[in-house]
Amino acid sequence: MEENSTLVETLPSVRGFISRRHKMLIDGKMVDAASGKTFASYNPATGEVLAQVPEGDKEDIDRAVSAARRAFEGSWRKFTPSQRGQLLWKISELIERHADEFAQIESLDNGKPVAVARVADVPLAADLFRYMAGWATKIEGNTIPLSIPGGGYFAYTLREPVGVAGQIIPWNFPLLMAAWKLGPALAVGCTVVLKVAEQTPLSALRLAELIQEAGFPAGVVNVVTGFGETAGAALAAHPAVDKIAFTGSTEVGKLIVQAAAGNLKKVSLELGGKSPNVVFKDADLETAIPGAANAIFFNHGQCCCAGSRLYVEKDVFDQVVQGVAEQGKQIKLGPGMDLSTQMGPLVSTEQLDRVCGYLQSGRQEGAKAVIGGGRVGDRGYFVAPTVLTDVKPDMKVYQEEIFGPVVAAIPFSDPNEVEAAANQTIYGLAAGVWTRDIGKAHSMAEKLRAGTVWINCYNVFDAALPFGGYKQSGWGREMGHEVLENYTETKSVCVRIR
Ligand code: NAP
Ligand code: MG
Repeated sequence: MEENSTLVETLPSVRGFISRRHKMLIDGKMVDAASGKTFASYNPATGEVLAQVPEGDKEDIDRAVSAARRAFEGSWRKFTPSQRGQLLWKISELIERHADEFAQIESLDNGKPVAVARVADVPLAADLFRYMAGWATKIEGNTIPLSIPGGGYFAYTLREPVGVAGQIIPWNFPLLMAAWKLGPALAVGCTVVLKVAEQTPLSALRLAELIQEAGFPAGVVNVVTGFGETAGAALAAHPAVDKIAFTGSTEVGKLIVQAAAGNLKKVSLELGGKSPNVVFKDADLETAIPGAANAIFFNHGQCCCAGSRLYVEKDVFDQVVQGVAEQGKQIKLGPGMDLSTQMGPLVSTEQLDRVCGYLQSGRQEGAKAVIGGGRVGDRGYFVAPTVLTDVKPDMKVYQEEIFGPVVAAIPFSDPNEVEAAANQTIYGLAAGVWTRDIGKAHSMAEKLRAGTVWINCYNVFDAALPFGGYKQSGWGREMGHEVLENYTETKSVCVRIR
């Protein structure tokens, strides 16, 4: 992490935004928390305070839910599907117009390289809104032929918005997660209260300003900053919220389900993972090796779908492990605002402690670090890319989600049995398969219990491609047309016509 001249100068607009007195969006106005309290968001590259934001809690959630309810029953109803689509399209244009700004805000608040945010997080967020804009006019029901003897009935279904949607998002892709949540809910005609992660509130607050600029009526979108245990819990339990969508840890996902039980609000969950990435000896190793490195090191391993269990066929195990280690060694760590940085700091001091705790437990249980294995430097929350071998199924580093740049490499000898090991987890979010054998590839795709299977690639996302988990990785799917199910009710209408 040496000094150099590739540091990006912070845009004046970003400097102006970050140093502003931050407010959150409730009922069409940027407001303080009812309590007047604020909390700090930190720059993870330095550990210094970046900004103070309102500490929204139950009272603010109540205000936001009331506003969302009024908008759902009033102004938002009057918008035609085409008008909803046009507003969503406008958000995508505004995000693109401010793309450099968003990339910098994301980098400063979350730690990720500004260059990565500029080509991944920001365009993916804009594209999600554009994709969902297209769906606004295509939320259709069916006509249903009935088999009632004698006939005389005409039946059809309507797809209606579920109502007020509460949405809770994590810190790993702050803008993109806001887009994944807001886009489909608004496309179908729901109104929203979005609770953003305490570690990374800033890009959503900037987005809130653009939502105002786009011309959404008051109360359609409300963005609350605050803590999970207070604001988040109040939203999940709120009796006037019809649906809660959550992305985060499996542990908190279970709390959301309990909180939602009070009024049996609809629940969708996108939770953790411990995704297997399987390299067969017949794979093109020139792509599989960098692919396996990218699967775990992208976003510093802070991806719910990170390929954190790397299964490699015995004959090529050493070659692949050495190759991935070599890739990891070459990754340049540094502050996100440095253009030469390939991996930034982890998001927070808690996350640093969590990941280092796993590394220590792995060491104690007998795992070996081929590269990395700990913190880098003493300023900021940097952890070295780490490849672990000698990992056994009963170890914590084998079973649990680390959410850091740490991969467990595991050899396998029977290609017909690797899927059993790969599936041996409480999770089922994603999986990777690397092989030149097309039959083996599709056979693995069929056998793996995961919501996404990437073949000869990893971390490929598209607004049209559904994403979500089997088992304890979640309920429902995000993106694609599947996500629209999360935000609509189906109404059957049956008419006697003779
Ligand atoms: P988390 O606690 O699950 O947080 C996710 C979101 O839920 C945040 O907005 C959080 O608010 C909120 N929240 C926390 N407790 C809540 C509660 N009782 N009721 C309602 N909302 C609540 O995740 P984390 O603490 O940031 O990270 C912990 C671990 O979760 C990670 O190490 C990783 O394993 C996993 N994780 C998974 C994903 C994913 O995409 N699947 C993303 C992030 C983390 P605050 O942040 O304001 O407290
Ligand atoms: Mg921060």
